[in-house]
Amino acid sequence: MADYNESLALLISEFGKLPGVGPKTAERFVFYLLKGPREGAEKLARAILDTVERMRRCSRCNNISEHDPCGICGDAKRDASLLCVVEQPSDVAALERPKVHRGFYYVLMGLLSPLDGVTPEALGIDRLLKRIKAGGVREVIIATNPTTEGEATAVYLAKVIPPLGAKVSRIARGIPVGSGLGYVDEATLREALKGRREVTS
Ligand SMILES: [Zn+2]
Repeated sequence: MADYNESLALLISEFGKLPGVGPKTAERFVFYLLKGPREGAEKLARAILDTVERMRRCSRCNNISEHDPCGICGDAKRDASLLCVVEQPSDVAALERPKVHRGFYYVLMGLLSPLDGVTPEALGIDRLLKRIKAGGVREVIIATNPTTEGEATAVYLAKVIPPLGAKVSRIARGIPVGSGLGYVDEATLREALKGRREVTS
């Protein structure tokens, strides 16, 4: 990296931590902000702070929300017998757009990856199992992405959930490998949910 002062280097390094942003793009972001009027950068900084301060994790589903329980968990019109398990909060947003899933969600906040130390315990899967054990959930729809970790997580859940009394289904293929649900169009997501199949281990 060029010889930048400390604060400039820090800002570039922080932008560089964002998904999909390399050091060159981070540098472009920072110089774009410094080039424009001061208000632009202030607005962005304030929006980030405001959002971070206001948003929290929902204690029921882990989704990011201003309220706890979040708007979805607090919606009594939803079907409590359907629970959709996703990897991250942006997947909830993606699945809400086609308005097909009328049940609740559980956000794993990651995927199983035993080699990296992400075990079922580390991921807090016991909370999900406790919720299913409490009763009322008839079907758990696994909507993890079709990556190696997404599949490993689906296989694990399909093994431990049925003994608790709920059936497990997996959303249909059609989601491109390696892409997040957020990158898939609404029609494909709708078909993937509708075409879900029961998984038996
Ligand atoms: Zn929630």
